[in-house]
Amino acid sequence: MPVARSSAIALLGLRGEVVDIEVDLAAGVPGFHLIGLPDTALGEARERVRSAAANSGCGLPSKKYVVNLSPAALPKHGSAFDLGIALAMLAAGGVVSPESVARAVHLGELGLDGRVRAVPGVLPAVLAAKRAGREIAMVPAAAGAEASLVDGIRVVPVASLRAAAIWHGAALEPQEEDALAPPDPGPAADPGPAPDLADVIGNEEAVEALLVAAAGGHHMFLLGPPGAGKTMLAARLPGILPPLDAEAAIECASVRSLSGMPVASLSTRPPFEAPHHTASPPAIIGGGSGVIRPGAVSRAANGVLFLDEAPEFSRVALDALRQPLESGVIVVQRANAIARFPANVQLVLAANPCPCGRLGEADCSCTPMARRRYLGRLSGPLLDRVDLQLTVRRLTAASLRGAGDGPRLTSADAAERVRGARGAAAERLAATPWRRNADVPGGWLRARPHRLPPVATAALDAALERGMVTMRGYDRILRLAWTLADLEGLDSPRQGQVGTALALRTAVSA
Ligand SMILES: [Zn+2]
Repeated sequence: MPVARSSAIALLGLRGEVVDIEVDLAAGVPGFHLIGLPDTALGEARERVRSAAANSGCGLPSKKYVVNLSPAALPKHGSAFDLGIALAMLAAGGVVSPESVARAVHLGELGLDGRVRAVPGVLPAVLAAKRAGREIAMVPAAAGAEASLVDGIRVVPVASLRAAAIWHGAALEPQEEDALAPPDPGPAADPGPAPDLADVIGNEEAVEALLVAAAGGHHMFLLGPPGAGKTMLAARLPGILPPLDAEAAIECASVRSLSGMPVASLSTRPPFEAPHHTASPPAIIGGGSGVIRPGAVSRAANGVLFLDEAPEFSRVALDALRQPLESGVIVVQRANAIARFPANVQLVLAANPCPCGRLGEADCSCTPMARRRYLGRLSGPLLDRVDLQLTVRRLTAASLRGAGDGPRLTSADAAERVRGARGAAAERLAATPWRRNADVPGGWLRARPHRLPPVATAALDAALERGMVTMRGYDRILRLAWTLADLEGLDSPRQGQVGTALALRTAVSA
């Protein structure tokens, strides 16, 4: 049995490819040679595999092992190849069944004591194995529940190299710690009830704006002092968005898995990510050394990315957001690899009205210049993508009393209205590549047959004439007006919807 085979999965972004592991027992000085573009973590597999085999009592014969990972051109990162390498070596050494080892895809890092440790990305890796037509995936016991989310492939969770060897036919006595750990239920994947829109007191205009943002998929900018409830509003957006379909749910879970977060079940609630403004660009966009990790933008994919105190984010991070907002995809480049992550987020930016946040109060000493510079960091290409810009005011005791005890919009009611409006938009856009009003280019809205009659756009045309609205701003207001019409069950926007849309852009110059 000169050459034994096993396989593993190399992940690049969410895409995984099967890596063949070949082990040749060659004549010569006993040793371990690893070839096929291994990175540092993978290079250290040599030491981990040798110790793990010795300490699990698997008795690797002392020979010269040449281990080749192919295809050689495929970048391979991290430690998830340990288990596959160890089993292929045991197969070459005659300890386990080569046929059995060759049939399974193996994922897992080995501890020096022989334990199989969890690795990030088990879910996308098992998905890739299934898509490649593989029938068995051996995974770390701790990731058993996560791997089992993939239908159509047999998942074998193992706690130790010894347990893996026994499953593959090694004549070894099982030890207590080899017993298959019961599938780790992990922390409950259900994050509890979503915060409800009905908790928002006062601020009716902002609640209405949130509804419009959800219905049309519009990015949103909230300008207002600290304590005006910007975070409270943003956190309620996922709860009124349509639930994730199966494909999006698995994509969200895969990104979480790759981020090293626990994944025990699939959630249909759109994710919500709110990175701090001091977060590094790789933490927001993705990257890092070794395995390329997704950033907050990708964890927010299919959901909401909230940047509170947005002007405080680094220029590099804000600039890096432009491309993914355009394409819905993050591309992380490396010398020898390109990783793609999903980044189709609904963006909510929030900012204080001035650097100190107390504009209009006696102790604010921010100069007009400082204000302009502060908000100017968001201007240009980033705000160009944001249809909805709203000023949120801090509620006074008087306005709170005025808000009264009348019925407030609940998230369930809002979600129902969003569903209806999205349905209407999808029907109108059926013959186009777009599904939501936010995706529609202005030119399409200004051309027949969707051009609105002059009586409907009179106020907007006048604003354009007077230079109060730019041409881009004009298009954004048209998009908002269509969403308002969809929410109200109209076949096209009238004067009223165009007027409301104009008012939904009060924060910064339109
Ligand atoms: Zn100030």
